[in-house]
Amino acid sequence: MCGIFGVYNNSESAKLTYLGLYALQHRGQESAGIISSNGKKFFSKLGMGQVSEIFNKDDLNYLRGSNSIGHVRYSTAGSTSLLNAQPLSIKFVGGNLAIAHNGNLCNAKKLRDKLEKEGSIFQTSSDSEVILHLLAKSKKKNIEEKIADALTKVEGAYSLLFILDKKIIAARDPYGFRPLCIGKLKKSYVVSSETCAFDIISAEYIRDIEPGEIVSFHNGKMRSIKFSQNKKRAYCIFEYIYFARPDSKVYGKSVYSIRKNLGKQLAKESDVGADCVISVPDSANVAAVGYAEQSKIPFQIGFIRNHYIGRTFIEPKQEIRDFGAKIKYNPVTETLKGKKIVVIDDSIVRGTTSRKLIRMLKHAGVKEIHHRISSPPIKCPCFYGIDTPQKSELIAANKSVEEIRKYIGVNTLHYLSIDGLVKATGMKKEDFCLACFNNCYPEKPPRKASNGKSC
Ligand code: AMP
Ligand code: SF4
Repeated sequence: MCGIFGVYNNSESAKLTYLGLYALQHRGQESAGIISSNGKKFFSKLGMGQVSEIFNKDDLNYLRGSNSIGHVRYSTAGSTSLLNAQPLSIKFVGGNLAIAHNGNLCNAKKLRDKLEKEGSIFQTSSDSEVILHLLAKSKKKNIEEKIADALTKVEGAYSLLFILDKKIIAARDPYGFRPLCIGKLKKSYVVSSETCAFDIISAEYIRDIEPGEIVSFHNGKMRSIKFSQNKKRAYCIFEYIYFARPDSKVYGKSVYSIRKNLGKQLAKESDVGADCVISVPDSANVAAVGYAEQSKIPFQIGFIRNHYIGRTFIEPKQEIRDFGAKIKYNPVTETLKGKKIVVIDDSIVRGTTSRKLIRMLKHAGVKEIHHRISSPPIKCPCFYGIDTPQKSELIAANKSVEEIRKYIGVNTLHYLSIDGLVKATGMKKEDFCLACFNNCYPEKPPRKASNGKSC
């Protein structure tokens, strides 16, 4: 889960990129960076933490030039350190080059071992660096061909932005695991993981970058090259469930509409009489609106979320039960006391959050709790750029729904079915990756996941 954003041909490219990254902050809060180019020279600022902490006015004035790319990182491969912050830059025969990557490569280790044996020296532990080495070694003539050549060797999920002295190039893997779209702002082009970043700068959404497509922005023009004829799609369905912002369009469709449909479908599959529907904010808000609309049970605010939590907080010596959840969410006793409620969450990963929240609801005097999850049980890890824990830590990989119900401590528990999930999107099942739900991996997972099926 990372976010990438780029601007081509705008005198304020770095400032616009900064705003774009602000809108994509939900996709990664570990580090962020911007690299700009004035045609001859690169300017770079990378840092740990969130966009608002990293860049100040002086930084943005320093980041000169009409082209920029930026990245917000959430580590899935490689350690948490400034060294792994992106964009990652190098100098090669063609001049300056930097990359920003969202996704995860499945054969990165194998390629890296081979490249190292051949003499390549790596600066980071991030899988994205493999792509830079491959294209620097490519014998092809121009940069677009070099990128195509490199990308035919890598396997896995990647939405990419490259910046060169005078160009910006975007690319998406042949399955289209992660989103990437193009927008226009007067004579400038913008590229983003999600369309919500276009709205903030008043850019107009044009289209998605196609799976297996490279789009090059140069000499004021946009040029498209197909580097793969693969027809099989594997869009990450979790973007609709949790990752993407509901005000974005992803894979050409409104996340809000689909997320609301998930809630409606969930109500169709598991309706129950109750006094009110509440959500675990903010990620389950839209699904809860859909559930309430379908079931005709009023939607209420059951939890207030504190939006001002830093990355660390000092806990008192005296133990406070469920401290981590309490500092983030507080139940509204007024709404809840003596009531029979439906609690909507978007997913259960380890089950620790649900368990704590349910305990808090009981403490607030709720009479009956019916837990509804707007995704199917997560049974398998993701190898395509999402930070899901290993199988041993995924509660649904190790317990039945009834055992999870007891562990969480609710009266009833229902997950959305896989077919219901797909139906709510209005798209074809074959076009999605559903591996974390059905163990069916569209792209061969790395060796350590040898029990994952290639489908
Ligand atoms: P857990 O306590 O592990 O069951 O956490 C479940 C919550 O984490 C859900 O309510 C989701 O909103 C959120 N979530 C789901 N997937 C992820 C992810 N990959 N990274 C961070 N949070 C997630
Ligand atoms: Fe998305 Fe799950 Fe597939 Fe990972 S395994 S890409 S989270 S659908």
